[in-house]
Amino acid sequence: MAAAAKMYILTARRVFLYCSSTKTLKLNTGATIPVIGLGTWQSPDEECYNAVLSALHAGYRHIDTARIYRNEEAVGKAIAQYLKESGTSRDKLFITTKLWCSEVQDPEKALKESLERLKLEYVDLYLMHWPVSMVNRGELVPKNAEGTTEIIPFEKWNYVETYKIMQKLYKEGLTKAIGISNFNIPKIDYLLAHPGVEVVPACLQVEIHPYLPQFDLVEYCTKKEILVECYSPLGSTGAPLLKDPALIKLAEKYNVSPACIAISWAVARDTIPLPKSVHEERIVSNLKIVDLAAEDVSTVNEVSKTTAKRLVKPDWGVDIFGDSAKL
Ligand code: NDP
Repeated sequence: MAAAAKMYILTARRVFLYCSSTKTLKLNTGATIPVIGLGTWQSPDEECYNAVLSALHAGYRHIDTARIYRNEEAVGKAIAQYLKESGTSRDKLFITTKLWCSEVQDPEKALKESLERLKLEYVDLYLMHWPVSMVNRGELVPKNAEGTTEIIPFEKWNYVETYKIMQKLYKEGLTKAIGISNFNIPKIDYLLAHPGVEVVPACLQVEIHPYLPQFDLVEYCTKKEILVECYSPLGSTGAPLLKDPALIKLAEKYNVSPACIAISWAVARDTIPLPKSVHEERIVSNLKIVDLAAEDVSTVNEVSKTTAKRLVKPDWGVDIFGDSAKL
């Protein structure tokens, strides 16, 4: 840990260590993953470049991007610049990108194109972004005349076929690990039970924050040795989470921000938060966590009992999040 990143906070009742997280977790591949990653959704090119470069200089070693964010080139440019400026080697960083839904029938082409945009020889984690297959007509999100997203029916192509090809990319070394995103328990069960699926996903990336703690899903993944990444850990853009009275009270107790409480809570659960910011000050502070007392983890756990909320709900996600949990 960099000495400058360490800070003790003295409050009326006790002293808290508030410091840049260098915690890592072990993937089922044997590799390690830095527990806090920088999110880059809704970070347009120039902002994204500056954000990634600032993050790397601040000590982040984990960046999360995706084909659909349309910023892989900016992420790649910032990584190259950082490696040049700092003399750090590529293998010290953990870079994730994601396979978009309209490219699921040819993940090899999609990953090679992502690597070209990122100017990398491999990524550390390649995620299937959604268990959804969209028609490929050249647009990333194809719409029909009614404005609905055009989906390939499950019987014609589904995520198991896509995953089997992703296994090949993993074995070839184009990605050091493969994983899934926006899957629920029935879908993971279906995937794992399928003949030809030999590689257990290293990670599942889903929406998780104090308003959507996903206790069952986290417990299930822990049993299967799948690490859980939390997207929208701060409640995403403009969310009321950071104004929640319980989080504010804990922030006052630890003398930190509510964002720090949300991130520290995710880290305390051995999950991997991916806070996004394009502001340097926030980028720096989002890497700093406090060691929450067990009773305070429980307090945050309770928040969803009164205010449960899913924030990311695209039209193609309806079946995934519905109670019927269709395959
Ligand atoms: P977050 O929960 O990370 O929240 C981001 C918002 O919070 C932005 O508006 C940001 O503003 C603001 N913010 C950041 N830090 C602070 C702070 N310290 N105090 C107050 N406000 C703050 O939302 P995301 O939805 O972006 O999720 C994080 C990442 O997860 C994404 O960027 C992406 O990488 C991934 N993701 C993956 C999805 C998937 O389907 N797999 C779906 C959604 C997200 P500003 O930038 O102006 O600072």
